[in-house]
Amino acid sequence: MTNRCSPPLTYRDIVRSGLCIGCGACAVKRSGATLQMQFDRYGQLKPKEAGDLKSAPQVEFPSICPFSPLAENEDDLAARHFATAAKCDPLLGRFEKAFVGHVEEGDFRANGSSGGLVTWVAAELLQRGLVDAVAHVGETDSGDRLFRYRLSRSIEDLKAGAKSRYYPVELSGVLDAIRTTPGRYAVIGVPCFIKAVRLSCANDPVLNERISFTLGLFCGHMKSARMAESFAWQMGAAIADVEHFDYRVKRVDRPANWYRAQVTLPHQDVIGRDWWHLADGDWGAGFFQNSACNFCDDVVAETADIAFGDAWAQPYAADGRGTNVVIIRSAALLDLVNNAVISRRIVLSLVDEEFVARTQAAGFRQRREGLAFRLTWLRPDRRPRKRVAAGAGSLTWRRRMIYRLRYAISAWSHRIFWFSHLLRRPQLYLAWARIVSFLYQGFAYSRGPIGRIVDRIGRSGAETD
Ligand SMILES: Cc1cc2nc3c(=O)[nH]c(=O)nc-3n(C[C@H](O)[C@H](O)[C@H](O)COP(=O)(O)OP(=O)(O)OC[C@H]3O[C@@H](n4cnc5c(N)ncnc54)[C@H](O)[C@@H]3O)c2cc1C
Ligand code: SF4
Ligand code: SF4
Repeated sequence: MTNRCSPPLTYRDIVRSGLCIGCGACAVKRSGATLQMQFDRYGQLKPKEAGDLKSAPQVEFPSICPFSPLAENEDDLAARHFATAAKCDPLLGRFEKAFVGHVEEGDFRANGSSGGLVTWVAAELLQRGLVDAVAHVGETDSGDRLFRYRLSRSIEDLKAGAKSRYYPVELSGVLDAIRTTPGRYAVIGVPCFIKAVRLSCANDPVLNERISFTLGLFCGHMKSARMAESFAWQMGAAIADVEHFDYRVKRVDRPANWYRAQVTLPHQDVIGRDWWHLADGDWGAGFFQNSACNFCDDVVAETADIAFGDAWAQPYAADGRGTNVVIIRSAALLDLVNNAVISRRIVLSLVDEEFVARTQAAGFRQRREGLAFRLTWLRPDRRPRKRVAAGAGSLTWRRRMIYRLRYAISAWSHRIFWFSHLLRRPQLYLAWARIVSFLYQGFAYSRGPIGRIVDRIGRSGAETD
């Protein structure tokens, strides 16, 4: 906590400490802020002073930044927004009910990354006149970004923005637009972005009145823009030539968790590659992860009215059509969903906390025991305030190695990619990525000769345990 003598917390403190996720909440043009969100050398969005102007310290900054130690945490926010929720679970937070299922009507499921429920719920809010526009992420036509937040006011525009984008995006533009244009809005975002929206609303009556619904996406971690660039390299394309980038092309004849990326080049040339065959395509290894994600403790958007993820549990993971898990925290949205189930527009089965947690087992390991372990690496006075206490508990040496490797891969992938790019030698980065992936997979999944050696020393703690 700051005391009366310590200088006020600013965006610079958060950026310097590696805790800036790049949400853009501090760059909303309120109270004369002159910050702009710009890519840094590693392809991550960070707030910067616009031109030579020095912003006056933002008095509300400590209360709106999702990584500020002085802001309300997820438990505080959820207690305020979902005070009467039927359940309160240490992993899932406060909620009414949880389901597994998909959209039955139209092409929502076929066009979504998972079961299509995020776009369906957002479309339903628009269609019923409960909101005038939805803030979500769509492709850009040109410029330095493949994707950005935008406001969709029609079902057509909303549907065109379906699918998961593992790419840096930021909220300042849409929050500015919401502030200047009266109406009711829904915002879709990963957990820390929804937290930023909640905190911004708590500090801004205009946003608070206008943002009526928040739709959260479960989150493993955020990637930098360099992951798209690296995937394109490996498909023989330069990112500047890519017209469409699809992180997850759906193939109904294959399990949903066999991700396949696809780029569309000029003249409609299309190239695809399975993530598994890409040097840095193992999500769990942490390539290009934002450093703030190392200190995140919300997997399932605990502050969102409704939260969606992929049903990574059998038999759903094997179904290439895609299936969602859904946690409903707001009673109003529970009614909306229940009515659609009765009319068979969507198909949902009730599930318990244990099932939802099982679908996100890796995410919870990384954000509970992994976070507790990572916190021990920092001096007590430098530790971010989290809902998880520092401690290595009974972690096996193998488990510790996995967390250390993941942390190192995420940190070094940014630098090595940057250096290879500078030298115009993609092979340098790719060779490094293959070696560390091989090492990580030996420790995590007992693969190859490293896996055999590590298994001989001790099996306990492998990701597959
Ligand atoms: C960075 C990231 C990490 C994720 N990690 C996990 C995970 O670990 N486990 C898990 O189960 N699910 C995770 N998800 C969510 C998952 O990928 C699907 O988005 C979710 O299951 C919804 O699928 P759907 O078919 O219902 O959504 P769709 O119908 O495809 O709609 C997705 C909606 O989300 C919006 N959107 C896409 N990308 C972003 C973004 N970056 N920020 C804000 N809005 C966006 C789109 O514009 C669209 O409106 C993650 C998503 C993201 C963006
Ligand atoms: S996390 Fe968001 S609010 Fe905090 S400094 Fe970064 S961009 Fe600004
Ligand atoms: S892992 Fe946490 S901090 Fe990182 S993008 Fe997801 S919600 Fe935000």
